[in-house]
Amino acid sequence: MTVLDFKFREETDDDWMEAGSCRGLSDIFFAPLAERPQTRSRREARARAVCLECPVLNTCRDYARAHREYGFWGGENEEERHQAGFRLIAPIGVRA
Ligand code: SF4
Repeated sequence: MTVLDFKFREETDDDWMEAGSCRGLSDIFFAPLAERPQTRSRREARARAVCLECPVLNTCRDYARAHREYGFWGGENEEERHQAGFRLIAPIGVRA
């Protein structure tokens, strides 16, 4: 195996991301370090409101579930994806 054989990222059809309503709003879709639960609830409520108006909500949710993403995607946080049966490798804040 040479360095040219190494794949950094599996290629996916993600053109839909260009239409996402969250562009430029990463600070409310991904948690900062040591975020407190109450702060997380407020941040995710803001993110959820953006998602509910987004034209690619369903595509985004499906993508995040299939790729086991972290952060808030398609109106769901990691715990909601986990509870929907799309388990994360190392879930954050989810009890087994
Ligand atoms: S559904 Fe939410 S996270 Fe997904 S692209 Fe739209 S605004 Fe962004």
